[in-house]
Amino acid sequence: MAQAAERGHRRRSRSPVPGLRTRLTLSYVLLFAIVMASIGFTFHQALVVISHQQAERLLDADWSALKGFLRSRDGELVWAYDPEHPEEAFTVERLRRVFLLTAADGEIVEMSNGYASIGREPAETVRAVLQSGRTVTVKRRDARGEIYMVRMGPYGGAGKTYFAAIGMSAGDTERIPSRMLAVYAVSMPVMLVAIGVLGWYAAGRALSPLQRVVAAARTVSGGNLSLRIEPLGTGDELDELIETFNGMMERLEANFEQMKRFSMDASHELRTPLTAIRGQLEVAQLTAKSTEDFRRAIATALEDVERLGRIVQSLLQLAQAEAGQIRLNFEPEMLAEVAARQMARFQPLADGKRLSLELEAGDGCMALVDRLQMERLLDNLLANAVKYTQEGGRVTVRVRREDGEAVIEVADNGPGIAPQHLPHIFDKFYRVREGERTAGRGVGLGLAFVEWIARAHGGRVSVESEPGKGSTFRVRLPAYRESSEEARSG
Ligand code: ADP
Repeated sequence: MAQAAERGHRRRSRSPVPGLRTRLTLSYVLLFAIVMASIGFTFHQALVVISHQQAERLLDADWSALKGFLRSRDGELVWAYDPEHPEEAFTVERLRRVFLLTAADGEIVEMSNGYASIGREPAETVRAVLQSGRTVTVKRRDARGEIYMVRMGPYGGAGKTYFAAIGMSAGDTERIPSRMLAVYAVSMPVMLVAIGVLGWYAAGRALSPLQRVVAAARTVSGGNLSLRIEPLGTGDELDELIETFNGMMERLEANFEQMKRFSMDASHELRTPLTAIRGQLEVAQLTAKSTEDFRRAIATALEDVERLGRIVQSLLQLAQAEAGQIRLNFEPEMLAEVAARQMARFQPLADGKRLSLELEAGDGCMALVDRLQMERLLDNLLANAVKYTQEGGRVTVRVRREDGEAVIEVADNGPGIAPQHLPHIFDKFYRVREGERTAGRGVGLGLAFVEWIARAHGGRVSVESEPGKGSTFRVRLPAYRESSEEARSG
C-alpha cells in the first residue's frame, strides 16, 4: 500500500514540468513555422508579381521598338535599319530571335527558329487576336520546358493588317521566386531546429521557478513547515504562485502549531485531574483508617472526575460545533432581554463578591440569533468577568447598534490581560498563568466557544484589555433589517 503510494508519487512528480517545457517549446516552433511560412508565401507572391511586371515592361519596350524597325515599304513589310550601326543591328537581331509575323489568315510571313521551337500560333488564335484589335501577353513553353513570354497583336503596315508576335525567354525571371522558395525550404528546417533549441532553453529558464516550487512542495512535511521560497521580485504569475505557496505554508504552519499546542494542552488538561484522582485514591488505600477517610478521598476524587467529565464534554461540543454538527435555529431576539436574563443568573455570584453588575441597553437592539448559543456566549463572558474581577469591582454589559451592526460588550475593571496573551486568548485551553487560581479554575475552552458562536452568527469577537484597568470583550453581529424590527416592536 505504502509502496504503491510511493510509486504513484514518483511517477506524478517527474511528468508535469518537462511536459510543460516540451509543450512550450513546440508552441514556439509551431508559431515560428507559421510566421515564417506566411512571410515566405507573401514574399514569393510579391516576387512572382514583380518579375512578371518586369517581363511585361521589357516586352512593351520591344513591341515599341518593333514599330520603329519593321516598316512598310513598297507594299511590303521590311526590316528597316542600318546594318552598319552596331546598336540597331543588335536590337533588330534580338527582336527577330523569337519572332512571328503572319498575314490575317494565319499564313506565315516570317517565323524565327526561336518561335518555331515554341510552336506556331494556330489560325484561330490569330483570328481572335486580330478581332479583338488589342495586344495580349501570353506564356509559352518550348520543347525543353523553357518558359517564354510572348506579346502578340495586330500589326498594321503596307495597307494590310498583320499578326505579329515577339517573345522573350522568361526563364530567369520565372526562376527567381522558385529559387527563393528552394532556399527558404532548405533554411526553414535549420531555423526551426535553432528556434526549438532556443525555445527549449527559454522555456527551461521560465519554468525553473516552478520547479523550485515543486521541489520545495515535495519536501514539505510536518517537520519543516517554516519552509518559504524566495520570490523572484518580478511581480509576474510565477511570483504570485510563490507568494500563494508561501501564504499557504504560513497558514499550514499556524494551523499545525495550533493543533500541536492543542493536543499538548488537551493531554495535559486531562492528565492533571487523572493524576490527582490516582494520588488521592492511592493515599486513601495506604493510609485511610476509617470509612470517613475513604469517603473524603472518594469525594475529592469525584470532584476531579467531574472536572474531567466537564473537559471531555466541552471538547466534544466544541468538536461538534467546529464540524458543523450543531444545528442553529436563528430567530429575531432583543439582545438586551437575553443579556438581562443571563445577568440575573449571575447576580447571586456577583453579590457574593460585592460586584456591581450593570446593563446599558439603549433601544434593546434586535438581532437574528440562536437563543441557546447566544445565552451560552453571554454566560461564558459573564462567568469570566465575574470570576476574574476582584471584590468590589464592576461588570458592565452594553448592548447597542453601531454602523448597522449589533454590538454586545462585556466590560470589567478586573486585572486585565497582558498584551502578549491577547492574540491567544481565544485558543483552546489557553489560559493566562498569573490570572489562574486553582479554585474555580476554568477549563480554558470558554472563549474558544465564544469565538465559534460569534462566527456561527456571521459575526466576530474582539478584546481590548489593559493590565490593571480591566477588559472589554466585544461581540459584533450582522445587522438585522430595521423593517422587521419595527414590525415586531410596533
Ligand atoms: P477559562 O475557562 O480559563 O476562563 P477562557 O477561555 O474563558 O478559559 O479564558 C481564557 C483565559 O483568558 C482565562 O484563563 C483568563 O486568564 C483570561 N480571561 C478571560 N476573561 C478574562 C477577564 N474578563 N479578565 C481577565 N482575564 C480574562
